[in-house]
Amino acid sequence: MNVPLLDLSEQNRDLRPEIEAALGRVLDTNGFILGSEVKALEEELAEYCGTKHAIGCASGSDALLLALMALDVQAGDEVITTPYSFFATVSAITRLGAVPVFVDIDPDTYNLDVGQIESKITERTKAIQPVHLYGQCADMKALREVSAKHKIPLVEDAAQAIGAEENGVRAGAMSEVGCFSFYPSKNLGGMGDGGFMTTNDDDLAEKLFALRVHGSKERYYHKWVGLNSRLDGFQGAVLRVKLPHLDSWSDKRKANADLYRELFTDSGLGEQLGLPFERENVRHIYNQYVVRVPGRRDELRSFLTEAGIGTDIYYPVPLHLQECFEYVGYNLGDFPESEKAAQETLALPIFPELKPEQQKFVVSRVLEFFDN
Ligand SMILES: *Cc1c(COP(=O)(O)O)cnc(C)c1O
Repeated sequence: MNVPLLDLSEQNRDLRPEIEAALGRVLDTNGFILGSEVKALEEELAEYCGTKHAIGCASGSDALLLALMALDVQAGDEVITTPYSFFATVSAITRLGAVPVFVDIDPDTYNLDVGQIESKITERTKAIQPVHLYGQCADMKALREVSAKHKIPLVEDAAQAIGAEENGVRAGAMSEVGCFSFYPSKNLGGMGDGGFMTTNDDDLAEKLFALRVHGSKERYYHKWVGLNSRLDGFQGAVLRVKLPHLDSWSDKRKANADLYRELFTDSGLGEQLGLPFERENVRHIYNQYVVRVPGRRDELRSFLTEAGIGTDIYYPVPLHLQECFEYVGYNLGDFPESEKAAQETLALPIFPELKPEQQKFVVSRVLEFFDN
């Protein structure tokens, strides 16, 4: 049996007639950049996230950059964030000449340890940027309290968390700006790069709509210096076909996570593996299903690769230890939980179309590994 980490072929096969028809509409109308499909998608996304506005852009990475630009983050300003995330979380900050100020993660959720934030706030702190890693919201209630007390805006990196909820409120609706990605491996993936931002603030929305088109509200008149970061019509059309299925796909991922928990626990591996921790009152959308394997992660990974099971590591190097961020001045040992997670985490297949037999196969191979 072969169990890939992610396989989109079944999903694409089922939707192919609808996708082809949608692409045909774009061809017929020449709406290649933004256009009516993107406009309609933006309205549907705002409704989905429960926000006043949704603004399409070229990628999740650009969404983060545009959000910080809209909040007027400048060279020398500080942005508090996590070192345990995808690269773009931090490159968005440094691209503006701003300084990433890291706070370590909570070892259970892999998200920002909010209790450590206040001691890092200075006069230069311009934003706090939590990440909803693997599809579970950071502790937004606590983050909003810190944000309100110090009057510092929040930017959610919700690239892995579309549809995730805390106390019934969706990711992207709990901050000044929410940032999302349509990278094909996300729960709502396009057929190329894409992303969007959400906000409830009319002024920020106006600025974000302008910043993605070189900072112009009216063509050739530039109020700000923005980017060329637009979502294309083909992506808009494809994503509109997929969006109505998103909740059932995310529910399927959650059901797969529940089955893994049951199977691993029944096999006596529940403790050994460090299964995902779900906070109370959240909806976890399981963009990734990540276990912890203290001491033997790389060994297990090779064993599973040999057995035909796809895995990956998110992420092997915490961002404060990346070569390109050496100049910021952090060292090995500064964020022990992030460093430990980078050594121990392993992502297993969790995509919606995964079959119970495939999950049982994964669990049986993991069991075999630990039995030897
Ligand atoms: C995917 C991802 C991004 C970047 O999205 P792209 O669309 O690939 O640019 C940013 N942050 C996190 C946490 C991500 O997972």
